[in-house]
Amino acid sequence: MDNPFKNAQRQIDDVAKYLDIDRKTLAALKAPKKFLKATLKVKMDSGKIKAFKAFRSQHNDAVGPHKGGIRYHQQVTEDEVKALSTWMTIKCSVVGIPYGGAKGGIVVDPKKLSKGELERLSRAYMRAFYQAFGAWKDVPAPDVNTDGQIMAWMLDEYEKITGKHEPGLITGKPLALGGCEGRTEATGLGAFYVLEQLVKVKKLNKRKTTIAIQGFGNAAYYFSIFAQKAGYKIVAVSDSQGGIFKASGLDPQKVMTHKDKKDSVVGFSGTKTITNEALLELKVDILAPAALENQITNKNVNRIKAKYILEIANGPVTPEADAVLYKKGIIALPDVLVNAGGVTVSYFEWVQNNMGYYWEKAEVFSKLKKLMDKAFSQMWATYTKKKVTPRMAAYILALDRVVKAMQTRNSNG
Ligand code: NAD
Repeated sequence: MDNPFKNAQRQIDDVAKYLDIDRKTLAALKAPKKFLKATLKVKMDSGKIKAFKAFRSQHNDAVGPHKGGIRYHQQVTEDEVKALSTWMTIKCSVVGIPYGGAKGGIVVDPKKLSKGELERLSRAYMRAFYQAFGAWKDVPAPDVNTDGQIMAWMLDEYEKITGKHEPGLITGKPLALGGCEGRTEATGLGAFYVLEQLVKVKKLNKRKTTIAIQGFGNAAYYFSIFAQKAGYKIVAVSDSQGGIFKASGLDPQKVMTHKDKKDSVVGFSGTKTITNEALLELKVDILAPAALENQITNKNVNRIKAKYILEIANGPVTPEADAVLYKKGIIALPDVLVNAGGVTVSYFEWVQNNMGYYWEKAEVFSKLKKLMDKAFSQMWATYTKKKVTPRMAAYILALDRVVKAMQTRNSNG
């Protein structure tokens, strides 16, 4: 497979053709501003000390502090972390929140650790990098295999070292430590707001609009709940074991009750079992890949029959497939916009932490809608004006803002 960081650099070169950008600024955008590495020494339950590689990539902070998750995975690499930090700069900028991108990771299979080992590893990560973090420097969050509990341990470690409260240091915290109401629903709800805007500009009849969703995890579930409530017909969902299809529409809440009991959506009554591959090729209006990356590729792109693709997952469409979709007239709305509801509500969490004043869920949702709607309409205006893919439109919009901030500072970020 391609090197993700090289891909990100190539994308920036492509976008640069549409921007008023000098060579120095372009070079600065193509590399992280700072890349930190550490070897974490952690005492295992057996008493032995084990070493884990850990990274933090701070891509850009021209617009505001760095922002990005920390992932725990055995396949984390330096280049993956660098690429993800670049895409975080773009994602934050697409929705106009005052952050630059960052990403962190530890090379570990967390399923092999006890809870105690996981806590010691997470605290060790914060000890290694605490000087680089701060509410006005770099604000981490959960990512693959990390959660609110891990954020709580990291915050606690940081506050112990610095001797002061700083809840805005990290987001995705449990509510008890200053987390934000509505964070659980945020990504799915943000994607739903994008869907509503698409339906509006394309003048679709939502009651006649069919949706197939690959995945049925956090983002997919809430997206399906909001969409079904609004009148859309969810005809298929899936998980790692396979998919289910029902032409007359599924009730996502009931599907989740079934999944909780049986560990899979497969076997839900009144549905036909289908493979994940078949789900992607259904003749539906909207296809929402919400599970894994690289799902729509050169291999299956010519069999895609959906009219619109909503990238709820990160990177579900390969760049080659994206070009084919565009030629076929299939509108693929990019991940940096569609799943930006998560980081937007993380931003709201940080705002509330910094103020020490907290909002109700309804207020969080209405503020999220405002930002998502604005981002969609700005992306759509660029898409129609410049006649580029929606992904390119989002990237142009985002990087133009970052470049202007860098040039205004005259510091190359
Ligand atoms: P999750 O772990 O809650 O759900 C993942 C879903 O994918 C599960 O239903 C799982 O069964 C399914 N899945 C796993 N392997 C599969 C396979 N081989 N085929 C089909 N389905 C498979 O994760 P999530 O938080 O919902 O995230 C889903 C995607 O959205 C990821 O790409 C993630 O990076 C992206 N995303 C999530 C958020 C968020 O806030 N949750 C924010 C931004 C982006």
